[in-house]
Amino acid sequence: MHYRSTRGEDRAVTFTEALLAGLARDGGLYVPDDVPSMSASTVAAFAGRPFADVAEAVLAPFTGEAFTKPVLRRLIEGAYAGFRHPAVTPLVQLDTNLFILELFHGPTLAFKDVAMQLLGRMMDEVLSRAGRHATIVGATSGDTGAAAIDAFRGLGQVDVFILYPHGRVSDVQRRQMTTLPDVNVHTLAVDGTFDDCQAIVKALFNHHAFRDDLALSGVNSINWARIAAQISYYFVAGAVLGAPHRKMSFSVPTGNFGDVLAGYYAKAMGLPVDRLVVATNQNDILDRCLRTGVYETQGVQPTQSPSMDIQVSSNFERLLFKACDDDSAAVRALMNTLTQSGRFTVPDAALEAIRAGFDSHRVDEAATQAEMTRTFRETGHILDPHTAIGVAAARAALRRDPDTPVVALGTAHPAKFPDAVFRATGKRPALPDHLLQLMEHRERINRVPNEPSTVERFIRERSRMLGAVA
Ligand SMILES: *Cc1c(COP(=O)(O)O)cnc(C)c1O
Repeated sequence: MHYRSTRGEDRAVTFTEALLAGLARDGGLYVPDDVPSMSASTVAAFAGRPFADVAEAVLAPFTGEAFTKPVLRRLIEGAYAGFRHPAVTPLVQLDTNLFILELFHGPTLAFKDVAMQLLGRMMDEVLSRAGRHATIVGATSGDTGAAAIDAFRGLGQVDVFILYPHGRVSDVQRRQMTTLPDVNVHTLAVDGTFDDCQAIVKALFNHHAFRDDLALSGVNSINWARIAAQISYYFVAGAVLGAPHRKMSFSVPTGNFGDVLAGYYAKAMGLPVDRLVVATNQNDILDRCLRTGVYETQGVQPTQSPSMDIQVSSNFERLLFKACDDDSAAVRALMNTLTQSGRFTVPDAALEAIRAGFDSHRVDEAATQAEMTRTFRETGHILDPHTAIGVAAARAALRRDPDTPVVALGTAHPAKFPDAVFRATGKRPALPDHLLQLMEHRERINRVPNEPSTVERFIRERSRMLGAVA
């Protein structure tokens, strides 16, 4: 399997190259050259199988030559051994035709662990094999950073630098990033928003000399390996609900569009997905875009679902590329327009193609609270605010079509957002045992201005890789 950039300038690369690079050198995102298909009998056989079996079948065509079968199996088993639920991603029923796929049983309590635990192991395998080092640089709205740090901490071949927006992540999220003693882990509290952090990371990657000196590697959801790893659980849930014989929809709390894009690929591979519902909070660029065809940035409003507080949605570029029939020149032009004017209009044919598979639903702060309250009253189930947005959007989908089951993706454990949960339910969810000490450990906070040059200097000074060279 080969991968190419959505902006067309890069040559085709292997899975390993896409894994290590994250972002393509022309600023685009890697997409697979073709989409593997799962036969109906393969999908039917997923029912009742262990998570690792499904993940192996889904991932093998994407990873191709990168790993032998036994190595891929070992990486997958290692990645999911630390999850606190034996099913890894259990499916829970809330109401008639309404389900939650709980993706938050990993070490940092958010769905990002599902992909990141595997990504860390894949990178370590590839780098150790080649005797190489890498520097991971990533931006986080809270959950990616913690998941990346947990996945990469203590590794000899990798230094990790995570940028987060100062004052805009929850206490638990921040402490998960700032209390670790590992020498290869660094966090930067940027005076700005998540989008500012993301822009700095992009600038660092586009500075090719810096990128090469440090062997920069990206682990944000622009890294194709993360999308690939997330496809597995769509098949797991689908098989439980009767795929390939019965269709189902998914409602996905969305920020950077990585998770819901994995659903798009699951559908392209043969899962009978009816609708993919893009559920947004008040930062609703995607909901506006799907309704009007205009993709336009606005300021970010902080909400109780901070992991979805985004201004631009990086992975949307991959869907745009597919919807434009793989026309990289068209995508490049649209992205240039976005950079210059903060907006672009999706071409009519592409918008029609997108609407054929996707719905969108915006859930404001009051509706998020109301959903947490309602679900708790009706079922005793405590939702975190992100998952509540998915559930509220799923209920809207069921009002349009009551007969097709809808799976809302449960993206975070409620204990990660205790204040919002308490306001809505009067309950303060307890942190799982392994995180209880978190609130007592000492934090290491490095506050930096919103400037790529300062961040670059910070990384150069602390990288063990350059230290070894100097
Ligand atoms: C990252 C995150 C999201 C958004 O996922 P994307 O793949 O960026 O769309 C939603 N909920 C939680 C809890 C997250 O951590």
